[in-house]
Amino acid sequence: MAKDRKLVSVVTGGSGFLGSHLCDYLLGKGHQVIAIDNLITGNVTNIEHLAGNENFQFIKHDVTNYITVPGDVDYIFHFASPASPIDYLELPIQTLKVGSLGTHKALGLARAKNATFFLASTSETYGDPLVHPQPETYWGNVNPVGPRGVYDEAKRFAEAMTMAYHRYHGIDTRIVRIFNTYGPRMRPNDGRVVPTFIMQALKGEPLTVFGEGDQTRSFCYVSDLIEGIYRLAMSRECDPTNIGNPNEMTVLQFAEVIIKLCNSSSKIVNKPLPTDDPKVRRPNIDKARKILGWEPVMNLEDGLQSTIAYFKNLLEKGLI
Ligand code: UDP
Repeated sequence: MAKDRKLVSVVTGGSGFLGSHLCDYLLGKGHQVIAIDNLITGNVTNIEHLAGNENFQFIKHDVTNYITVPGDVDYIFHFASPASPIDYLELPIQTLKVGSLGTHKALGLARAKNATFFLASTSETYGDPLVHPQPETYWGNVNPVGPRGVYDEAKRFAEAMTMAYHRYHGIDTRIVRIFNTYGPRMRPNDGRVVPTFIMQALKGEPLTVFGEGDQTRSFCYVSDLIEGIYRLAMSRECDPTNIGNPNEMTVLQFAEVIIKLCNSSSKIVNKPLPTDDPKVRRPNIDKARKILGWEPVMNLEDGLQSTIAYFKNLLEKGLI
């Protein structure tokens, strides 16, 4: 349907790591973008370069409360949530609320505006997986009452709510299951392995490997992820779709890569493995390849070099 105006996208969590990259990408595609964030884990410095852009607007708001957006809206990207294990351990109620109440409010906005709703879900819906790599058809192995349950179950609820709005109200919906993603604008102290190891290596401190470091993860560079998300948004696919990089390695191997790329003399120390830390994680991306023609293109070394440069710059400028 041809429109005589720009497409309008709302991005909840728009000043977070992924949300802010998504805002940039959508603006580049000619959208008008309204970012909403309550800034409990988001940071306005991630979007300060957009100040003065006539196609960009920021609203400070907690999306667990009723969301008001004037005018037409075409897409709602629901990205608001604490997303690192230490964030959701520190903010368990907010995490549950934004995944449940926040998703409900964002879906209500989609319904009111007749907009497409796009849910940022997660590989955590698979929990500590018993199927490896994880295809979208796997229902997962989640401990609902463990410390990670606040995030995992909130996102699982969010998926269920999204499908209910799709089936009952006929809302056009998408669900992406995001696997470990890294890149510039991650918070240096969010506790996730990528910023933690890079900061430790740059400061010459020991890298804190949890457990023996034999658990695996598969890391996707942020530009690849955002490209996959955009393609999924523009597709007609309503069922969940994995987006991530299948390049799997152990956490110990990852620590060694970071030490090497940072030219660091840091050592490795072992710390206790957090409760319910998934032992393996790797996306099966056959579906994204097939229906979106998407696969990651950034290799790990190049992606990490740009991420390391980002943190180095913040350190040199005394910003962290
Ligand atoms: N990890 C680690 N040291 C750290 C932070 C994380 O060994 O300082 C491990 C963590 O136990 C997990 C993996 O790195 O196995 C990835 O952790 P992250 O917090 O990035 O996210 P997750 O993939 O668990 O959601």
